[in-house]
Amino acid sequence: MLADKILNGSELPEKTLCFTFDDGPGKSSSKNFGPHTLEVARYLKEEEIVATFFMVGKFVKSYPEVVREVKKLGHIIGSHTYSHPDMNKEFNKGKNLVSEFTKTEKFLKKFIDEDTIYFRPPFGRWNIPLSEQINNGLDSNFKYLGPIGWNIDGSDWYYWSSRDKDRTTKCAENYLRLIKSEGKGIILMHDSSANRNFFWAFIRQRYNQSLELLKIIIPVLKRDGYSFISLKDIQFEY
Ligand SMILES: [Zn+2]
Repeated sequence: MLADKILNGSELPEKTLCFTFDDGPGKSSSKNFGPHTLEVARYLKEEEIVATFFMVGKFVKSYPEVVREVKKLGHIIGSHTYSHPDMNKEFNKGKNLVSEFTKTEKFLKKFIDEDTIYFRPPFGRWNIPLSEQINNGLDSNFKYLGPIGWNIDGSDWYYWSSRDKDRTTKCAENYLRLIKSEGKGIILMHDSSANRNFFWAFIRQRYNQSLELLKIIIPVLKRDGYSFISLKDIQFEY
């Protein structure tokens, strides 16, 4: 059952963080540029951090080998719809959005060995009648848990669209500032881009620096005494 409101990690203990990545999986042939979902997943494993990757169904279909490896590294694979629509907008146009779940599940299910699939709606957009449409129309052997939101959003996608040569450092500073002011919670980042606008999606994927971003902020957070939990460790209040 999906809740009728967005769930977040505001009940977490102080100085506790949970990493989540949206819009992948993606991979790039360039070492320096582009989405590197697998490299991100490997780095987090080295740092003993279990993250959740909310994946877009159409990319799971394109890169199943990346999903398999991310799962093997012990991370959680969640659903982020099949085509990444603004579901509020589509729902208001009269569309039935159940297929966004079923199509994703078709490609995702072999990588999920639990009975639960975590779900995050694109852009965090959700509403009560939409939750009823999905809960009534979705026939699945899995239990869907969500919609999972976030507490800390440093707008990484914005920096990856920028031409500023210091964009990664500035992005890291923004995340660190927000983490310090919030003190705890679920962190939103993007290991790729699924934006519907092709031009910006292309630019953001090309300049995605999430691996470099993590390599800056994780040592700082560890030094400052933060601890990291996985989404599975959070009790969500429905
Ligand atoms: Zn997204």
